[in-house]
Amino acid sequence: MPEDRPKRPILSLKPGARTSLPDFPTPPPALWKCKPCGTTVEVVYNAIGDVRCTACNARLGKAEDFLAKPPNVDKLRARPAPKKPPAAPPPRPRRGDRL
Ligand SMILES: [Zn+2]
Repeated sequence: MPEDRPKRPILSLKPGARTSLPDFPTPPPALWKCKPCGTTVEVVYNAIGDVRCTACNARLGKAEDFLAKPPNVDKLRARPAPKKPPAAPPPRPRRGDRL
């Protein structure tokens, strides 16, 4: 294959330069449960500042602690919520199995 095409310089991104990147899917918000009231609170991936409960307005923690990997749950007044509502397990009473 003949290389008759001029080599193009590698484009580099300058900080702050506007780019026309394709729209990447936005990460889904993390779901947490407010410890004081139990309401599910969404923490978006780019949240900043304090995260407050939408229901009781309790300050649940800093967004950076929510978004840390792993989250600093010790600093938060919320706990991770299951992504899907928990499906009720089918009751399967077993004979002789008492709790
Ligand atoms: Zn709450």
